[in-house]
Amino acid sequence: MKIFLNNQLVNSEDAKISVFDHGLLYGDGIFEGIRLYNKCIFKLEEHLIRLEMSAKALMLDIPMNREALAKAVCDTCKANGLENGYVRLVVTRGVGNLGLSIKNCNQPQVIIIADDIQLYPKEYYEKGLKIITVPTRRNNSAALPPMIKSLNYLNNILAKIEAQNLGYQEAIMLNDQGFVAECTGDNIFMLKDGILYTPKIASGSLKGITREVVINIAKELEIELVETEMTRYDTWIADEMFLTGTAAELIPIVEVDFRKIGNGQPGKVTAQFLDVFKSKVSNEGAFI
Ligand code: PMP
Repeated sequence: MKIFLNNQLVNSEDAKISVFDHGLLYGDGIFEGIRLYNKCIFKLEEHLIRLEMSAKALMLDIPMNREALAKAVCDTCKANGLENGYVRLVVTRGVGNLGLSIKNCNQPQVIIIADDIQLYPKEYYEKGLKIITVPTRRNNSAALPPMIKSLNYLNNILAKIEAQNLGYQEAIMLNDQGFVAECTGDNIFMLKDGILYTPKIASGSLKGITREVVINIAKELEIELVETEMTRYDTWIADEMFLTGTAAELIPIVEVDFRKIGNGQPGKVTAQFLDVFKSKVSNEGAFI
C-alpha cells in the first residue's frame, strides 16, 4: 500500500510521523473521510472546503493548496489501483515540544490513506439498524465546536463505547440542552407526516457532506425539509428515519430507544432517497 506523506507517496511501512507530533500528543489536527466510486471521487471539492474551514477554526496552516490536495488525493487512489474505496485525508499540527503551544509546531503533516471501505453489514441496509440514545452529551460548541472535524474524536468514541456495550452499532447523542445533535459518526434525518426533519447545525452536528446531498435530494423530490431542534420524543414518533455519512451513505433506522420507527421496516421514502443518492454517486464524482 502506498501512503501520501508530505509531498510524496511512500510504502506504508515507511509512512511514519514523530512521537512529538501534536496530532498524536493532543489530537491536534483535522481530517476528512472521502469516498471513491468507480474511479470517481465524490464531492471532493466540498470535503476540501470543509477541511479548510476546520483548519481555519484551529488556526492550522495546511501546507498545500486545494488544487495540490485534490491532485494528491487522486494520485494516492491511483497509486493503490483503487476503483472503489475510502480516502482518509489527515493534517496534523506537526512536531512540537511537550507543551500545548502551537507556536513551535512549524510543519503540519499531510497524510493521505486510500483503502477499501469497511461498510456496515448489508443486512442493516435491508432490515434497518436499531439505535439508542446514550448518556454522553455532544460537545458544547463553546468548548469544542462539533462543526470542526478534528482529530479529537473522544466525545464520539465515548458515546460509541456506550452504544457497543449495550449491543448497538450506533447511538444518538444529545447536546447539553437535551436536543438531538447527531450520531457518533453520522447525521440524522427523520420523516413525519411527509416532512423531512434534521437537527440544525447549531444543535451540535457536523455539517455533513452527505447531509447536504440529502437536503438537495429533498428539493429535487419536492419534499419539505426542516432544519430544527429535535427532541428524543420527536425521534420516537417518527414515521421513518435514516442516518447519513460518507462511509454509511444512507442507512435506515427501524428502532430508537426500544420504540419501533413506523412499522419497524425501512421506510419507502428512505428507499427513494437511497435510490437517488446511489445514482448521484455513480454519476457526479471527479474522475481520478
Ligand atoms: N457526524 C460526525 C460526527 C461524523 O464523523 C460524520 C462523518 N464524517 C458525519 C456526521 C457525517 O458527515 P459526512 O456526510 O460528511 O461524512
